Amino acid sequence: MVPRTEAVYLDDATLRTLTTEVLSCQSITSLSEEEKGLAKNVPAEDNAIIMRQTIFYAQGGGQPSDTGAIGPVDQDSTFEVSLVRKTPDGRFLHFGKFLDASSSFVAGQPVVQKVDDSKRNYHSRLHTAGHIVGLAMQLLMPDKKKVKANHFPGEASMEYEGLLYNELKPVIQEKVDELVRLDLPILISWLQLDAQVGDMKGAEEGRSLDGRTRIASIGGLDHNPCGGTHVARTSLVGSVVIRKISRQKGTSRVSYDISPGIDA
Ligand SMILES: [Zn+2]
Repeated sequence: MVPRTEAVYLDDATLRTLTTEVLSCQSITSLSEEEKGLAKNVPAEDNAIIMRQTIFYAQGGGQPSDTGAIGPVDQDSTFEVSLVRKTPDGRFLHFGKFLDASSSFVAGQPVVQKVDDSKRNYHSRLHTAGHIVGLAMQLLMPDKKKVKANHFPGEASMEYEGLLYNELKPVIQEKVDELVRLDLPILISWLQLDAQVGDMKGAEEGRSLDGRTRIASIGGLDHNPCGGTHVARTSLVGSVVIRKISRQKGTSRVSYDISPGIDA
């Protein structure tokens, strides 16, 4: 039985390279049905690698997966990571392909992980911007209950119970601009007892393998259970643009984007 993966990025989201050990390297076809279900849109001839530790963010909590590469120590990368998913029991499956189809990794082999830096930074900015929109909403309308968050490029939004009208758009924009301008730190802390977290939404995403729950806070003004990656300060997001407010089935969605985009 392969043990749970230690998610190193939860404690240090700045790492873009890490040396660790391969626990298993399998073809997708040899995975269990449950694991295959995580490999949607991954070609069947690709492989799944599990390592002792990982700096790759696994898709979840509204944030897309990291991509990157893995290779033997002191050599060029030999494996391209296209998608990382986490199993319910905490193993991180790194899906992708070997550049040379005849190569492989063996259990116990030390390897170097490399995370795609520009994509990670962009995802971290987009995700942190969601927290900023969330804090702006909390400060403006403390009673509004958040129901969903999506930080995928091109579709980022925060969704709330009840109706929000278009007139609010400039008000939210102004508060968001203020929070970015204040350059508040994003603080990460850990709660030891699950009881303290109760049923706070997102608590599961922030849970680490020892049962602690990770809390993200903007300048101590809010506290959200969160397992995502963030930038260190609100100004590092760039500018946050409130795109539109839309309503459906009793909920309202505040869509946003960030500028500059991924390559800047
Ligand atoms: Zn977060």
